[in-house]
Amino acid sequence: MPTRVDLLSAPPLVRAVWELLAEAAPTYLVGGAARDLIRGRVPRDWDLATGLAPEDAVARMRHAHPEWGLGFAGVSWGTVVVRTAARGPSVEVTSFRADGVYRDGRRPSTVRFGTSWAEDAARRDFTINALAVDLNGSVVDAVGGLADLEAGLVRAVGHAADRFREDPLRLWRAVRLLSQGPFQLEAATAAAVRAERPRLAVVAAERQGEELAKLLAAEEPAALARALAALQDLGVWDVLWPEWAVARGCPTSTEPIDQHCLATAVALPSRLRLAGLLHDIGKPVCAKREEGRWHFAGHAAVSALWAESMLGRLRFPRRMQQEVSWLVAHHGRDWDALRPADLRRLWVEVGPERLYDLLTLDAADGGAVADTSAMRARVEAAVATPYGLAPACSGQDVQGWLSLLPGRRVGDVLAHLQEWVLEHPEDNRTEALRQEAERWSREVGGE
Ligand code: ATP
Ligand code: MG
Repeated sequence: MPTRVDLLSAPPLVRAVWELLAEAAPTYLVGGAARDLIRGRVPRDWDLATGLAPEDAVARMRHAHPEWGLGFAGVSWGTVVVRTAARGPSVEVTSFRADGVYRDGRRPSTVRFGTSWAEDAARRDFTINALAVDLNGSVVDAVGGLADLEAGLVRAVGHAADRFREDPLRLWRAVRLLSQGPFQLEAATAAAVRAERPRLAVVAAERQGEELAKLLAAEEPAALARALAALQDLGVWDVLWPEWAVARGCPTSTEPIDQHCLATAVALPSRLRLAGLLHDIGKPVCAKREEGRWHFAGHAAVSALWAESMLGRLRFPRRMQQEVSWLVAHHGRDWDALRPADLRRLWVEVGPERLYDLLTLDAADGGAVADTSAMRARVEAAVATPYGLAPACSGQDVQGWLSLLPGRRVGDVLAHLQEWVLEHPEDNRTEALRQEAERWSREVGGE
């Protein structure tokens, strides 16, 4: 790993704040930004740590740049957010601090500012998160993070179990780090995650949901797979969701349900991963053994209910719960058996976006890494009809043709014509529709 990095990618605001504070006290780029830069990546957000106490940093910035907007939401923890425009890029400035004891499992009871970087590094969670970079681009390594970054190890700073006990959110942060690069948990840190996992009960449900969502947004499938496997191997899923333990114990004729759910999630684009993760979660209550094989009739509907409840408990936004639940409820089509008319029906019923989402989910479920191109081509061919997929007539047309008053019967005829058009899209013209309306009306009679 380099001991010197290039700072050219630092946005001008970061540079300006950094230079201003560094004139007065040691000020470093820290956290994920330092970690990413050293790995040769462009950071997503930029965190600075400074030897100035918060009030001194603020006074300095106010004096030199009255036009900067300062946010004080985290100032009791030493963090001030600096931005130039309401929606513009921002930089977080945190004063070096030493944490007192953690009493509530979330926050230190006291913090002390005006300490050194070495003390600040010691209160950070993992060694690779405790690296710093100075204005010359030199790496400052107070706790051995560089060697761990080189080795791809996520290692707690200090005694791992103690660190997880003082703030159990770090359990999630450890696993989420795995999803961000070629990392694995160092052995003692992994053992501490396993031992301390029951403490996740004290972490607010929505925080856990946020961590899970961030983890599933991982860019590299291989890293995501490692993070999900760690959650599995260390027993975190079982603590998070009792349903998970039930699925894990359920017999199947093929792959275990939990393994299959994880593999499906990894094979999907990030937006569909929650659906992949939970698509078979309800199988245990549907399991029946017939002729030597396990069957799970009705599992999509049960899984959809369970998925909604599981995401609800982690306070996922209502819309997301519903979206995932819908996808899970509708997964598991035998796409190869669908005729062009069936594809058109699905297109009309759920819309193109959901159709392709279901196709992608089912392809991943099938084990193949979502090569859906052949089926996509079939869908496109099926819906490429000359006169559209909605019947080319109105309710008034139907009333005129059949001498009907407005009412339910008109709706029934239109519904029939929609079905008919899906089967005969090339005949979606006035005259043919009229004939079909008359034929059908005669056939079903006066009921
Ligand atoms: P990301 O790429 O997700 O932003 P990050 O490492 O920058 O990752 P942040 O949540 O932005 O994570 O936190 C910035 C830094 O603050 C971390 O790198 C770590 O040094 C420290 N930190 C954050 N949360 C904790 C915590 N719960 N305990 C100890 N240190 C923490
Ligand atoms: Mg960050």
